[in-house]
Amino acid sequence: MQLILEPELAEQLRILYEDMERAYDSVAVQLDHSCNGCPDNCCDSYFLHHTYLEWAYLWQGLSLLSKEQSTAIMEKAYQYERESKAIIEQGERPGIMCPLNEAGKCVLYSHRFMVCRTHGVPASLTRPDGKTLRFPGCFRCQESLEKMGLKEEAVPVMERTQLLRRLAMLEQRFLEGRRHLAPRVKKTIASMLTSGPPELSHCSDLKDK
Ligand code: SF4
Ligand code: SF4
Repeated sequence: MQLILEPELAEQLRILYEDMERAYDSVAVQLDHSCNGCPDNCCDSYFLHHTYLEWAYLWQGLSLLSKEQSTAIMEKAYQYERESKAIIEQGERPGIMCPLNEAGKCVLYSHRFMVCRTHGVPASLTRPDGKTLRFPGCFRCQESLEKMGLKEEAVPVMERTQLLRRLAMLEQRFLEGRRHLAPRVKKTIASMLTSGPPELSHCSDLKDK
C-alpha cells in the first residue's frame, strides 16, 4: 500500500525547502558564489537520499509532468541504475547525470532534494552526539574563498542542524511516529524512481503495527 503524502505535510516540506534555499542564499551572497558558468555540474555526483518523505514528494512532482516527460525520465532512471550498478561492481563511484537533469537543468527544481539545496557553500552540522561536522563547500566555492583570503573563523557557513532536525520531524510525522521501525532509506534518485512511490512494503515492519 502506498504511503499517502497529505497536502498539509507536503506544504510543510515545501516551506522547509524554502528555508533551506534562504539559508543557502544568504551564505552564497556573502561569498559571491553561484553555479552560473561553472565548468562542473554537481547533478552527476553520486548522492544517496534518506527519507521516505522526500521520496514521496519526488513522486508528487513527477505527477505534475507530462506523460512523455515522465516516461523519458523513467527510461533514464533505469539506464542510470544499470550503469551505476556496473561501476559500483568495479569498486568505483558512479558519476552519471541525474535522470531529472535535462540539458544541464533540473526538471523538478521545486521538488529537488535537500542535498541538492545544501551542496555548494561551506556548511556546519552538529550531530545528535554533539560532534560538529564542517563542510568546506564545492571546489569552486573553495577557490573563491582562497581568493578572498578569509580566515577560517570569518568564513560564513550554512547551519544545517536545525534544517535537518525539521526534516527528521516531518519524516517522523509522515511515518506516523514509527520512523525507528522503518528500514533506513539509502537510495539514489534513480532508485527512488525505478522503485515506484514509497509503499508500506518498503517498510514492512510498519505493516502490522
Ligand atoms: S555547486 Fe559548485 S561545483 Fe557544483 S555546479 Fe555549483 S558551482 Fe559548480
Ligand atoms: S534532483 Fe535536480 S538538482 Fe538534484 S541532482 Fe537531480 S537534477 Fe540535479
